[in-house]
Amino acid sequence: MRRKLAAGNWKMHGSVSALAELTTLAAQIDPRGCETVICPPATLLFPACNIAKPTEIAIGAQYCHPQSQGPFTGDISARMIVETGASYVLAGHSERRESHAETDSAVHNQILAVWKENLTAILCIGESGEDRGAGITLDTIATQLSGSLPDGATGENAVIAYEPVWAIGTGDVPTLTQISELHDFIRAQLVRRFGDTQGNAIRLLYGGSVKPSNAAEIFTVENVDGALVGGASLQAVDFIPIIQALNDA
Ligand code: PEP
Repeated sequence: MRRKLAAGNWKMHGSVSALAELTTLAAQIDPRGCETVICPPATLLFPACNIAKPTEIAIGAQYCHPQSQGPFTGDISARMIVETGASYVLAGHSERRESHAETDSAVHNQILAVWKENLTAILCIGESGEDRGAGITLDTIATQLSGSLPDGATGENAVIAYEPVWAIGTGDVPTLTQISELHDFIRAQLVRRFGDTQGNAIRLLYGGSVKPSNAAEIFTVENVDGALVGGASLQAVDFIPIIQALNDA
């Protein structure tokens, strides 16, 4: 049985005052419900972990460098992330693949660093609008999955977020049939590579313009174990109904 997971990616949003949203979230969600993770900007990891510590909410970073230390100005390492108290790290988000030219191989090395510190990686993969138009969506997903997810992935150390790039922050959402096709495809790839037990234990999240208004229907799709949510995770008033929809699914 895979535990459902609602993950919020705050991206480069949120000042110290945004931590009030985390406090509201902690007070209002059902602690026996789905797992909830918030990934704030790096500057907020320490205070976010302090708020989340007595609650069921987990905190994640949005990126980590493959090395544990060194002359890498502006970067943070998995070892540093552990010290904040965070337990998850996003890897390979499309915005980083685009704006920081992160390749599959770079993401692969980041995940190895995440695992070295016993953290859980949330690997993001997804096709561009051009890929979909050219009919190469499944090829893109297969390439990203095999290139960026290292051997040794388990239900404990890895979560996969399927995030079509054209759906992120646009309000465009794939049809339920398209989501189902991709999640079934990713599940089959995981089972083929990691075997029945681990391949079926790794959670698959859908990400891309999930809102309170569309969450419930997305969560009816088999092999959708939760969501990675950007914009609608910034305010508790939007994220709470998404979490509730996942608990009810
Ligand atoms: C994301 O950034 O991972 C994301 C899914 O964003 P949004 O929900 O805003 O589309």
